[in-house]
Formats: sequence, C-alpha cells, structure tokens
Amino acid sequence: MKHPFHLLWGGMGLLALAGCKSAQQEPAVQQPNVIYVFPDQFRNHALEFWGQDGFREHVNFRNDPVHTPRLNDFARESLVLTSAQSNCPLSSPHRGILLTGMYPNKSGVPLNCHSNRPISSLRQDAECVSDVFSKAGYDCAYFGKLHVDYPTPNDPNNPGHYVEDQVPVWDAYTPPERRHGFNYWYSYGTFDEHKNPHYWDTDGRRHDPKEWSPLHEAGRVVSYLKNEGNVRDPKKPFFIMVGMNPPHSPYRSLDDCMEEDFNLYKDQPLDSLLIRPNADPTMKKAESVRYYFASVTGVDRAFGQILDALKQLGLDKNTIVVFSSDHGETMCSQRTDDPKNSPYAESMNVPFLVRYPGKIAPRVDDLMLSSPDIMPTLLGLAGLTDSIPASVQGHDYAPLFLDVQADVVRPTGALYIQNVDGEKDADGKVRSYFPSARGFKTARYTLALYIDRQTRELKDALLFDDENDPYQLNNLPLKDHADIVRQLCAEMGKVLKEIDDPWYREGILKDMIPY
Ligand code: CA
Repeated sequence: MKHPFHLLWGGMGLLALAGCKSAQQEPAVQQPNVIYVFPDQFRNHALEFWGQDGFREHVNFRNDPVHTPRLNDFARESLVLTSAQSNCPLSSPHRGILLTGMYPNKSGVPLNCHSNRPISSLRQDAECVSDVFSKAGYDCAYFGKLHVDYPTPNDPNNPGHYVEDQVPVWDAYTPPERRHGFNYWYSYGTFDEHKNPHYWDTDGRRHDPKEWSPLHEAGRVVSYLKNEGNVRDPKKPFFIMVGMNPPHSPYRSLDDCMEEDFNLYKDQPLDSLLIRPNADPTMKKAESVRYYFASVTGVDRAFGQILDALKQLGLDKNTIVVFSSDHGETMCSQRTDDPKNSPYAESMNVPFLVRYPGKIAPRVDDLMLSSPDIMPTLLGLAGLTDSIPASVQGHDYAPLFLDVQADVVRPTGALYIQNVDGEKDADGKVRSYFPSARGFKTARYTLALYIDRQTRELKDALLFDDENDPYQLNNLPLKDHADIVRQLCAEMGKVLKEIDDPWYREGILKDMIPY
C-alpha cells in the first residue's frame, strides 16, 4: 500500500480527509453507505431511457424496446456513463476484476470458475474492495451470485461433497475465510434456475426460497436495510453488493421470468423487439428476446424495491447507489450464439449509473470506464482514497464523478481480454490459460486480435469504426487501415505493459504491438 491505513473512527474520517478545521467543532459527518447492484448479462442498450430526451442525444444506438421505468427515473438522479466497458466480458473474470481492481492475470480469475479449472479462483490474499470497506469500519454484505471461487467438496450440509452433482461442478459454497471482509452473507456460486434459487447464509445454512431470484434478493436487501434481526450495526455505514443472476439465460419459459413482465413482450413481433440492424430475427435463439426483456423489466422492479426502502428509511441521501452489470448479451446480434466474451458492443458495453444525492450532479458522461476502475472509484467516492491498495490496477475517477471540471486524465480506451483453457493434466484439470485474444476499444474504434494456439501468430482480427458504423456491420481489413491499427496497437501495448499482461510478457505479436 502506498499509504499506511489508519482507522478513522466514527464520523471523523471524512472531516479529517477533507482537511476541515477542528473536527470537534463540526457536527459528525456519517460516512456514506454504498450499494452496488449488478445483474448478469444486462447490456447497456437494454435501458429504456436511452430513447428519451436528455439521453438519446448522447448515444449513437437505438435503445432496445424494453420497459425500465425505475431505471429511467434513477438515471435522471444519477451520473450515467454511455461507454462503461466490461474488459473481459465473462462472468468470473469480470467479478474477479470488480472485487480486486486487478485484471484477470492478477486477480486469480482468468477463466470462468468450475471444478476442472483449479487455476481460476479469487486470490485469497487479494485485498478486495470489501476488505478495504471492512477495515474502514463498514458492515459489508453480499447478496446473490458470486462465481469467483474454485468449487471444492465443502458443502456445509454434506461435508466432503460438492454442493451439486454435475461434472464439472460450477456452483460453490464460499466459506467464511474466503469472504473478504463481508460479514453478512447470502450467496451462492452460480446456478440458473431463476425461480428455484438457493443461498448459503452467514452461518452456512442453506435457503431454497422458490421465488424469482432478483425479487427474493431485493427482499433480503430490504430486510438488511431495515436491520430486521439485528444483522448489522446501525451506527456503522454499510457496503452492500447484490449480484442478481437474471437477465442471465435460460430464456425459455415462465420458469425464467415473471409472467407480468413476459406479458409486455409476448405478443410483439420478433422484428419489433430485435431492432438492432446487426440482429437476425430468424435465428433459433430469437424467441429468447421476449424472456430477456421480461427479465430486464423484472430486474428493474427489484432494483426499485431497494430504492424505495432506502427512501422510506431515510437512507437515500447518504447512500451511493450504483447499477451496472458483469457484461452484456449479444441476443442475435452479429450472428453469434455466444452471448458474451466477444468485443462486440452488445457484449462489452455495460450500464453504469451512480447516484449520490447532493454530491454527484446528474448528467451523462462518455468516460470509458474499465472494470478495474470500479473498485478505486467506489473507495474514492466514499472518502477512502488513501486506502486504495497499491495492488489495484484501475484508476480512481471519483474526482471526475464529483466534479465534471476536475483535472483528471481521461482514458483513451479500454482493453479487451479473452482467455481460454490452456494445458490440461491427465485428470482433465486445466493447469494454464491461453490468452487467445486482446484488443482495444476507443471512442472511435474497436480492435480485437486473435492468435493461433500453436504459432501464436495473428489468426483473426476485428476492426470496427464505431462512430460511422455503430452496429459494427463492417469488419475493416487491417491492411487497408494501417495507420489506425498502428495507433490502436500503440495504445493497447502501453496498457498491456502497464498491467503486466501475458501478451506483454511473452511478446505476443510484437511486430504489431510496440510494448
Ligand atoms: Ca455473467
């Protein structure tokens, strides 16, 4: 750590940090609470307000025809980013970045976690965002999907066994020693029966509530806010993370979403729902869009329940509320069945809305926020700038959030990262990862370079002019755009070196990328 951290008790912390006059003469300032809500696979385009006045003029895409009434209102009270990127747009890698502020080569989570991938698990020695909040005197609570742990046979209800029978095992129980400062727990690894979810609580007890998971989790968060059962210390500020699973797949039936939400979309022709010019409504997956949008609307309502409780309890003014996602969903765009993990806008561009009444002026900003920036920015907003661990690779944009005129260097772009399984041992366990693609997204362009597993030479490339071709319909040949490619590779090389990425360490494509 750059600065040794000293615990500042009670409400004196912010006063001391702000360099105010004698703290004893000032009324105590309560440090802000923080709630970070991030549903899974929620693309930035699936927000209704992007089609409304005050927002539509800031983006060059048409919003999906979804209903998100609560998020529309919330956006008008928030700083809303047009261009937040999920750098490694896949569940576990994103979550590893979010919690540690480190890219996947440092967080411990380069691949989606399951029991055949022992090399992908959140580093136990990492100083996570929740570790920092906890040390700063916060009560920390985690709700919902975590998906950053390598599953082990540690079922608290069935010692010596995994928590599920399928092979490989995807779901996981996170024991207290792996909870990184969260002292309240209501979570699971990953599990996709949205109306039959399960959770392990702080004491390892399992709950099977048979309720659509976002609404169930919202109810649990509200109960926590009300402090039912004295689960938190009302004198302490709180830090809450809520990892909702929908609008994640499956998108097949009313087992996946709420009927009242499905009814909004069930009779709409598919080509009136899949309106992006790069979408193909004849794909087999096309029917899924009704369930996807229904899930989006349901998540909107669940999020609204948390906002309502904050207001009723008088906590809304001193609580920073963030709404984001782990990555997007291609949903029949670009003719791919893979909803994520690609550099396409539908996969990388995520919602990012921050409300902090009286401190952050509502506005729209094109800051190209990268996933590792989230942890330091949250800590910065909470007045904990000096406690940001030196291990964090992201940047603290709190000064810019708090003051649009702040003297902050804006990023020129965001890295794109794709890893796949590397070497496997005789038991089929993955022992390394192969860094299959790297890329760079700027305001103007998206570049992605894919390499061959054996030769490590360039195998494939994508280059889009996102300004003139926002739906990424024309993949530009690299050879016809040498100057642009050179520029983008220079920017990308700088960041790959800065974060000590395997591409830099191994000199991958060093003829193209000046490290
Ligand atoms: Ca995910």
